Amino acid sequence: AARAQAGVQGLKAYDPGHDLVALRRRFGEANLVELGSNENPYGPSPAARQAVLDSLQALHRYPDPLGADLKRALARTHGVDTSQILLGNGSHELLMLLGQVFAGPGDEVVFSRYGFAVFALATQAAGAQMRIVEALPREAAMPCGHDLDAIAAAVGPRTKLVYVANPNNPTGTWFGREALTAFLDKLPPHVIVVMDEAYAEMADAPDYESALNVLQRYANVAVTRTFSKAYGLAGLRVGYLIARPGLVAVMERLRESFNVNGPALAACEAALGDGEHLADSCARNAEQRAALSAALAERGLRVFPSQTNFVLVEFGADTARIETALVARGVVLRPMGGYGLGDCLRITVGDADENRRLLAALDAVRA
Ligand code: PMP
Repeated sequence: AARAQAGVQGLKAYDPGHDLVALRRRFGEANLVELGSNENPYGPSPAARQAVLDSLQALHRYPDPLGADLKRALARTHGVDTSQILLGNGSHELLMLLGQVFAGPGDEVVFSRYGFAVFALATQAAGAQMRIVEALPREAAMPCGHDLDAIAAAVGPRTKLVYVANPNNPTGTWFGREALTAFLDKLPPHVIVVMDEAYAEMADAPDYESALNVLQRYANVAVTRTFSKAYGLAGLRVGYLIARPGLVAVMERLRESFNVNGPALAACEAALGDGEHLADSCARNAEQRAALSAALAERGLRVFPSQTNFVLVEFGADTARIETALVARGVVLRPMGGYGLGDCLRITVGDADENRRLLAALDAVRA
């Protein structure tokens, strides 16, 4: 470790929570209730599955290094030019690449206390300084959400990047159009603002606004999206970034040549063609999110408001015991100690059956 560059020496490897492979072996896949990784229980469009099967003919070929067909489909979907799109091996890769390309030793990167874990990783891997801004208090309407005024105030002459997830993981919280534009108006043009919108398709609050809708007005904004959540394609690892062409072009210089594989390119293009499946998946998620939130609240638990496919829940002093007891029953949630929220668990919204099994297990271990 002493040989690693300074930015890497203090890092811990990404913690995926439990060893799911071992747990699947122990319980059998059908008996395990996996609600720890914010995956989509409804899976991808059948057209995406078929596209993967069709792509197997060409496994001996390198994929299209430009991902031209998928970019064209994304450009159509979002009403942007293909030169504004960068594809990544998950949006995780793009968040890391942003740090690598735009920040370095002596620079600062600003993000919120409970911002997505990769923001800290990307900053440290780049050798830049983290500027972590206090979040809104627990008692706020958006508990532990982003304090956008404080984030803007923390931006200084050495700031190169600001990372903001909307909606945010792990809190599930979000902010609306007025807050978004007021925030972006305050930031100096030399700072690149990364709006991580991994859960945007699932946000249905009337006040939620994607930064894609205001991208024309802000040359310094980069939006990241993913096929891992609403599209149900986490296993294929595809994310994308939308920004102005100059920003995309400079990131292309450091991108790995074949970072998105052939089956993944084909599946995502097909998934974009099945808007009905996406809408259906999001509607079912919203319905289950409301039902699960209500059921947890009925049990006297504090549930954070969410516009995602998970809810953050306060379990208090009993959190670790409950979590361990749930795993022993084959119910996997995500512990939040790594985020400094050790009295909370993050629960992915499953389908009706998974949520029922979660609640039954919870009742048994809390009894
Ligand atoms: N951003 C946020 C806020 C996330 O929660 C996640 C996944 N947990 C990602 C980005 C990365 O997702 P992926 O690499 O699968 O696109």
